[in-house]
Amino acid sequence: MNLTAIKEQPVVINPCKACQPIGAMYATLGIERAVPLVQGAQGCSTFVRYQFNRHFREPANIAVTSFHEDAVVFGGRRNLIEGIINLVQRYHPAVIGVVTTCSSETIGDDIDAFIKEAKQRLVAEIGVEKAAAIFIVGLHTPSYAGSHVQGYDNGTRQYLEQLAQESKPNQKLNIIPGMINPGDIAEIKHLLAAMGVAYNMLFDISETLNAPLKVNDSFFPEGGTPATDLVDAANSLGTVALSRHAGGGAATYLWRKFNVPVVLGPLPVGIYNTDLFLEQVAKLTGQPVTAAIKRERGLLLDAMADTCSTTALKKVAIFGDPDTVLGVTRFTSELGMEPVVLGTTTASKEFDREIALIAKEYHCTPQIVADGGLHKLEQVVLQNQVEMLIGNSKGATIAKQADIPLVRIGFPVTDRVGYQRRPVVGYNGSLWLLDQIVNAFLERK
Ligand code: SF4
Repeated sequence: MNLTAIKEQPVVINPCKACQPIGAMYATLGIERAVPLVQGAQGCSTFVRYQFNRHFREPANIAVTSFHEDAVVFGGRRNLIEGIINLVQRYHPAVIGVVTTCSSETIGDDIDAFIKEAKQRLVAEIGVEKAAAIFIVGLHTPSYAGSHVQGYDNGTRQYLEQLAQESKPNQKLNIIPGMINPGDIAEIKHLLAAMGVAYNMLFDISETLNAPLKVNDSFFPEGGTPATDLVDAANSLGTVALSRHAGGGAATYLWRKFNVPVVLGPLPVGIYNTDLFLEQVAKLTGQPVTAAIKRERGLLLDAMADTCSTTALKKVAIFGDPDTVLGVTRFTSELGMEPVVLGTTTASKEFDREIALIAKEYHCTPQIVADGGLHKLEQVVLQNQVEMLIGNSKGATIAKQADIPLVRIGFPVTDRVGYQRRPVVGYNGSLWLLDQIVNAFLERK
């Protein structure tokens, strides 16, 4: 096997990853009545809000402590404390996730001490009882130390480190979805409901970032994980982190601290990965996989058989977040396609190891572009006679340049509508992805 990894380069042109805070904000927006409060400059929240608006087609409530020169020189203590008091008095959130940025981490803001002080101020302003009902959590996400994927991973872990508490067993299964779409989470809920599994969907954006239009409604959208479910996560039957790289740290924390059994991925895309997910759920909960779910599996297999003459031996490039790329690489291999180029936003040994396993199983030799940016990805795509690109909207220019179709998945998809509502996980989601792949080839015929 000749698995090639392209990593070393002096400069990254057009990086396709975002900074850590966006991942922590993604997780925070999946909590009921929660608001991320960015401890940094306005730009650190504006670009995220813009990105979320364009991908989810929803407003995203993100607050910022609005650093100017004085805060950068003298520290952001006053900004954070005043910011928390303002947020509570105006919007009455249940949870505030204080998200740090490059500047606050570099100047060494002690946000944990600032939050403590803000809580004391809140007691004086709104009383002990009301102040105690608000969860304020510090999330350290120094941007220069990782990507948005690590930001989600770090953010979710810090939420559970600060909130989860041992009490009596709840007979539920924790699911940590990772940075997947509302449609994906809805599909996972569908599978769990079909099996009769009681679950805690942690950091659940399926409704908060896919909300119905209502006039004169509350500041907060409906849905999201109640903070009490984060507290109760320590008492579950097990935790399944669908995305090992985004949420695996939180699941591992629950295992180490509270002995909650843990399953780390893979993202259930395609036959093998979805089978594995359902087996793991069945093992942890004792609930069997139902005939209705097996029918969905049969429909996917049928569609794979119907279209294999179109997909067989097609060279494909896949890029995006590591768990999505891993899931789609295995699925396209199941379709008889040949993954020849794989680009990941976040390099990891685990990613390389998993790709090596798939490559060995399916006798392919993909080149890995790890953290290489879109410029590098385009060069490698052009060198390898790739016939299809699968990834987010940032691949549109590459696909145009290489004159190949782009099948859009992942985050962000900003140049089309509706993709955030469509799942790619589970048998149903994989079926939809298969349709996209085959139709894109047929369109070219
Ligand atoms: S990279 Fe740093 S400065 Fe830029 S948006 Fe992210 S946190 Fe803010």
